[in-house]
Amino acid sequence: METADVAVVGGGPIGLELNAALVNAGKSVAHYEAGAVGHTFGWWAPKTKFFSSPERIAICGVPLVTPDQGKASQEQYRSYLVGVMQQFELAVRTFTRVETIEKDGGGFVVRSRRSADGVGGPGCAGAAFGDQVDTVRVKDVVLAIGNMHQARMIGCENEDAPNVSHYLEDVQRYVGRRVVIVGGKNSAAEAAIRLYRAGAHVTMCYRGDEFDAGRIKYWVLPELLWLIEKGRIALKTSVNVVRVGEDSVTLDTGESVVADDVLMLTGYVQDKGLFEQLGVELTCDEIERPVLDRTTMLSSVPGVYVAGTACGGSQNRARVFIENSHAHVDRICRAVAGVGVPWKLDPVIEGLGVVDEEQ
Ligand SMILES: Cc1cc2nc3c(=O)[nH]c(=O)nc-3n(C[C@H](O)[C@H](O)[C@H](O)COP(=O)(O)OP(=O)(O)OC[C@H]3O[C@@H](n4cnc5c(N)ncnc54)[C@H](O)[C@@H]3O)c2cc1C
Repeated sequence: METADVAVVGGGPIGLELNAALVNAGKSVAHYEAGAVGHTFGWWAPKTKFFSSPERIAICGVPLVTPDQGKASQEQYRSYLVGVMQQFELAVRTFTRVETIEKDGGGFVVRSRRSADGVGGPGCAGAAFGDQVDTVRVKDVVLAIGNMHQARMIGCENEDAPNVSHYLEDVQRYVGRRVVIVGGKNSAAEAAIRLYRAGAHVTMCYRGDEFDAGRIKYWVLPELLWLIEKGRIALKTSVNVVRVGEDSVTLDTGESVVADDVLMLTGYVQDKGLFEQLGVELTCDEIERPVLDRTTMLSSVPGVYVAGTACGGSQNRARVFIENSHAHVDRICRAVAGVGVPWKLDPVIEGLGVVDEEQ
């Protein structure tokens, strides 16, 4: 059976950083990604930009420079990740989904099969396929699997109707259409502004009585409020959508709002499958994040570490981002290989690592 020192599951930015750091420290790595590298960014609508500044999402000490010195788009970031992969000669088993990880003596046996797509997003196939099961025996496992695997459902009637989506698509799709956006945080706010500017007629339906300034970026909220004040975007607060019809939604107030498309931007939840298989202890009822030793990122199962947004569980208030996950890579590398990351850690960004501990 093939062997490796460490299995890294997840080919997002934090998985790639782990691969580079562990190989530099002399470890052999079996690195799995169910889709393409950076899969999570591939399902964001075209031209969607990060909220984080480029230096906060740069990995492996490689500068991320954007053409306008502004926030990177998903396209720019995915190209950047490929460049980092090439520079560090990272071997990633792409389109390979880890299905089972079993304890075996002092280590683990990782079984994977082919996969048509990554985990999460509108096109997520969900399962692996094919008869060929690849098996690798490893000493340690790092789960860098992210946490946006399925849409968070609101539980209204007809939520699975074809005119409902939980993912913003190419904004050109919405031109001239009446769109109801359900939600009131960053993604909903940004989508409302983009769709209005693209030529859609937008109504936001939000269950809160007013927007929470802590949940919409400080440069997005004023623009949204101005567009609402000027009547360019309609807003209904303290409402819940109870039913989706063919061309309208019904609110719990009894009111009906016309809608060609219904965009439910109410967040995403994490697939707990691998945690459960391994017996990783989870905490915080609704969020179910793994219990971790924050100095090493070791879970309740010896040999199983967790990195990146996977640590945050099904975040209903995002607290774990790329920027405060770089510290996870250094901690895991020290715990597994006895040395830290080879690149210089930015003390300002490194300091952000404490934020996730407050969750
Ligand atoms: C619109 C939007 C804007 C955002 N803006 C920001 C921002 O500005 N800054 C920020 O830090 N974050 C932002 N995020 C969140 C961002 O996506 C995450 O912070 C980032 O992806 C986390 O990186 P990661 O490496 O931890 O996980 P991910 O990038 O999610 O990578 C996890 C990978 O694991 C793979 N995987 C899962 N299970 C398996 C398995 N069983 N086998 C093989 N592979 C598997 C998945 O396919 C996925 O590619 C935003 C999210 C959205 C939706």
